[in-house]
Parts: sequence; C-alpha cells; structure tokens
Amino acid sequence: MTEAAGPVVRVVGLHKTFKSGGAWPWSPKSEVRAVRGVDFQVAEGEVVALVGQSGSGKTTVSRIVLGLEEPSQGEVWLDGGRWDGLSERQRRPQRVRFQYVPQDAMGALDPQQTALEHVIETLAVLGGHPAPEARERARSMLDRLGLGHREEALPREMSGGEQRRVTLARVLALEPRLVVADEPTSGLDPQRRESVLEALIGNLPPRAGCILVTHDMSEARGWCSRVLAMLAGRVIEEIDVSKDEPIHPYARVLFDPWSGEVPRGPLAEQGCPFRPDCSLVDDTFAARCQSELPSLLPVPGVAHRVACHAAESAEHAAASSS
Ligand code: SF4
Repeated sequence: MTEAAGPVVRVVGLHKTFKSGGAWPWSPKSEVRAVRGVDFQVAEGEVVALVGQSGSGKTTVSRIVLGLEEPSQGEVWLDGGRWDGLSERQRRPQRVRFQYVPQDAMGALDPQQTALEHVIETLAVLGGHPAPEARERARSMLDRLGLGHREEALPREMSGGEQRRVTLARVLALEPRLVVADEPTSGLDPQRRESVLEALIGNLPPRAGCILVTHDMSEARGWCSRVLAMLAGRVIEEIDVSKDEPIHPYARVLFDPWSGEVPRGPLAEQGCPFRPDCSLVDDTFAARCQSELPSLLPVPGVAHRVACHAAESAEHAAASSS
C-alpha cells in the first residue's frame, strides 16, 4: 500500500513489548514495554533527534523505523509505503534507500578491508554499481568526508573518528532517502564528535530525512531542526529547539543539566511516570498527575507538543485570563 507524496517517515501509534522467559521453561514470562504509543514524522530535508536516557525507548523506535525490529502495534510508513509487516524479501530491494549508521563502528567494519574497499563493496553489492563506477564514487565520497588520504587504511590503523566516517561514507555513498544514526558519536571526544556530525549532516542527499539518536542535547540542539524527548517509551516533548524552549521538567533537565538532576530512581507506574521527580506538581493538578497519563498535546502558536498536566493548566489559565 502507498500514500500520496509526504514525509520520508511517518510513525503512527507505535508500541513495542519485549517478552523474556525465566531461567527455566516453566519460569513465568516477564514483559518490558519499551515503546508506548509513539507518533511522529520526518519531512524531506529534515534532521530529527530522538533523545533520552538509556532505556527511554529511543533506540528501539529507531530500529523499528528501519525494520530491524517489528512493532507489537502501530504503523511505519517510509516514503509513502507501508514498511512494518513486510517480509525481508519484500524489503530487500528498498533497503538501499533506508540506511542505518550503527553505534559500534569498529564492529561494523571488516578488519581485513581498507577504507576504500569498504565503500566500493557497499556500492557494488547494495547499490548495484559496476566496479569502475563504484571505485570512482567511493573515492569521491571518502574525499568529501576528509578521508581521501586514508583510502588504504585498515580499521585498526584508523582513529575512532575515522572509523565512524568510513561507516558514514558507506551509507552516504548510496544516496539514501533516510539515514537513521544510532549514537554515531558515542565514545568520541568533543572535537571528533563535531567532525562526525558535520560529515553526516553536511553530506546528506538534498531531500533525505535523518533521525539522530542521541543522549546529548547539545548535539540535538546544534544539528537538528526538531527534537523528540523520550521517557519510559513515550515522547514527552516535541520541540523546534531553534524557536522555543522545553516545558516538560524532564526535557528541561535534559537540555540544561545544570538546572537539576536527571532522575535515577524508579518511575511511577500510574499517572505521569515522572511524578516522583517532578518539581512542578502542585495542588491544582496533583490528583491528575497521580492518576492520569498526560497526552502529548500541541502548544498553541508554535510547532511544539508537550505531555504535562502543568502545561495544560498553564495554557488553560493563560487562555482564561486573556
Ligand atoms: S504531568 Fe504532573 S508530574 Fe508529570 S511532569 Fe507534568 S506536572 Fe510533573
């Protein structure tokens, strides 16, 4: 099934529950609800960040988008075509358009292949380019990513930043419609982080969409047009960081770690998950925070959604006083 031209990615009502067995066949099964009702879109030419602490569900969402995990419920549309539920055989011809940048660059590289051989092989096998053309394109992409002088380097001879840039060269040489990058700068120093993000985002094909999975808000602020902050498998705030400031207290701490501590204790099972750590709860809406899960609602006048009863009440108060 296809839909009219629209966003590169459209995700509707996504849920993912992992079931795990105990040590013995008769042990009770436990469930982890990793993703709980996530909706979002990525438009052509847009870079969207998925941010949150580990366990927030951001990596699971990104893997579901590319079909590396199946959702328990919900829909994934890529470039107007339904993507969830397809068999690998149905997906294979399209995979070249939807690319994944793994966190573990070293693990993704063949220890016996040079930088140039990695990119040539990707272009020949996945892209279907004849050998001379694949070589020329690979050289050009390595040049663009500042690796022209490292064509013959093996992974063990490269720095961490160079290894990341080789994985990026393989992906970008295919001119994908969508790139999903899972913590591509993890473990690098700040200078190398910048150069890797510059290589990725500065070399995206003109109409491609990109999802950057990160726990680093400065990366999200610096490189992404929109940020989805995730907590306990849900998006709790969606914000254009160039135009607006976060409202949700958890998103505020993520954006500005000096403003408070990121919660480390257990989240609430009922009502708002952030309640045990929330500094905003007051008598006006404490009962709702305790019993009712806040929905992700638009903030009037800006491209911004937030899931917080305090934001709803503030908005209500502002509306009734005007
Ligand atoms: S819904 Fe209530 S507990 Fe949750 S973040 Fe908003 S004010 Fe805090």
